[in-house]
Amino acid sequence: MGKYKNLSAASALGMNGEQKKCVGKFESAEEEPDGNNDGSGECKSEIILEEDWHASYRNSLKNIDDLSRFVSISEEDKPLLKQVIKTFHTRIPLYYLSLIKDLNDIDSPIRRQCIPSIEEIKGEIHEKIDPLGEEKTSPAPCLVHRYPDRALLLVTGRCFMYCRHCTRKRLWRSRIPEPTLKDIDLALSYVRQNRQIREVIVSGGDPLTLPTEKIDYILSSVSEIKNVEVIRIGTRAPVVLPQRIEGNLCKVLEKYENLWINTQFNHPDEITPQAILACKKLQRCGIVLSNQSVLLKGVNDNAKIMLELCQKLQAIRVRPYYLYQCDPVVGAHHFRTSILRGIDILENMRGHTSGMCIPTFVVDGIDGKGKIPISPNYLLSASPEGLTLRNYKNETFFYYNPKE
Ligand code: SF4
Repeated sequence: MGKYKNLSAASALGMNGEQKKCVGKFESAEEEPDGNNDGSGECKSEIILEEDWHASYRNSLKNIDDLSRFVSISEEDKPLLKQVIKTFHTRIPLYYLSLIKDLNDIDSPIRRQCIPSIEEIKGEIHEKIDPLGEEKTSPAPCLVHRYPDRALLLVTGRCFMYCRHCTRKRLWRSRIPEPTLKDIDLALSYVRQNRQIREVIVSGGDPLTLPTEKIDYILSSVSEIKNVEVIRIGTRAPVVLPQRIEGNLCKVLEKYENLWINTQFNHPDEITPQAILACKKLQRCGIVLSNQSVLLKGVNDNAKIMLELCQKLQAIRVRPYYLYQCDPVVGAHHFRTSILRGIDILENMRGHTSGMCIPTFVVDGIDGKGKIPISPNYLLSASPEGLTLRNYKNETFFYYNPKE
C-alpha cells in the first residue's frame, strides 16, 4: 500500500487569510496498488486549501473520478461507488479531506465519515429512509413538531459535506426542491399560532450553507415571534468547513442574543486549530456552543477516543451535550453499533473525568417516539427505606432515604 506523505494540510491552512498548498506524494510506483498511479511514482493529488468559504464550497469533491485523484479507489469499486452516489450523493470539502492522516487507510475515522462506501447500497432489515418519522410529524412545509415546546425548521437540504452516516439522507438523496421563503413563512406562521412552542431549532441540511442574508432573514423572522424564547442552529460548519465562520456571518449571528449553536464533532482529529478558531469566533458573538456526537462504528466507538474527544471539547468550551445512537437509516448500517456499546463507553467515562465532559447518551425512538436517555445502571435496588447504589469503581453501598 502506497504511503501518502501529506504535509499536515490542516495546519497548512493560514489562520490569517492566505491560501496555502498541501501536496501529497506516493513513495514509489510499486507501492500504489490500484492503477491510479501514472507510473511516475507520484499521485497527482494536491490539496489546495482556500480561505474563502465560497471557493472551498464550490471546489469540494463531488464525484468518484475527482475523489480518486486524492484517494486510492480500486477500478473494481469505482462503478459501484458511482452507483452509490447516484442514490446518496457526495460532497467533501478539501479541508475535511486534509484531516485524513493516511488517505489510503480505508479505516481512517475521518475517511469513513466522508467517503462513500458500497455498504450504503446493501439494504438491511429494520432500516428506514425516515427512521424518526419526521415527515409524519410535519404539520407545515419544512417544519417538524414532535415535542410540545419546540419545533424543528428544516431550511435547506444542502450540506457542506454529506456525512455518510446522516439520519436525514432522505433530504439529499433525491435532490428534493429547496424550501422557498414562502415555505419558511408558512412554517413560521404555524409556530406563531402554536404558542406552546418556545424554541425553534433551525436545521436541515446545514443552515449555514445558505447565503448570509437569507440566514439573517430566517433568524429575524423567528425572533419576531413572541412565543419563541430560544433559537438554536444545528451546523457542522466548524467541523467540516470552518472558513464559513467569517466576519459577515458573525455580524449577523451576534445580533441574536437568544441564539445557541449545536455542532457535531465526532473524533478528536476534527478539533484542529481552524476548528478551534471557528468556535472561538462564534463564542465571541456570545453564542453558547454544544456538541452532539453520533456513536459511529470505526470512528468513535471506544471509550478512549470518546474521552479524548469530550475532554478536548470541554477545553475549548464546547459542551459535550449528546452522544446519539446511530439511527437505523437506509444506507448507514455499517456505522451502527449495539446500544450496549454506548453504555459501556459511558461506564468507562463516568468517574474517570469531569461530569461536564460526559454527554447524555440518547436513542432517538423510531417513528417519532422521541429521545430516550440511556445510562449505565447505578441504582441496583430501591425500597422505602433506601437504595442500593453502585459507584464508578463498582463498589456497592446502601443509601438511607430520609423519613417523609
Ligand atoms: S451536516 Fe448534518 S445534516 Fe448534513 S449530512 Fe452531515 S449529519 Fe447530515
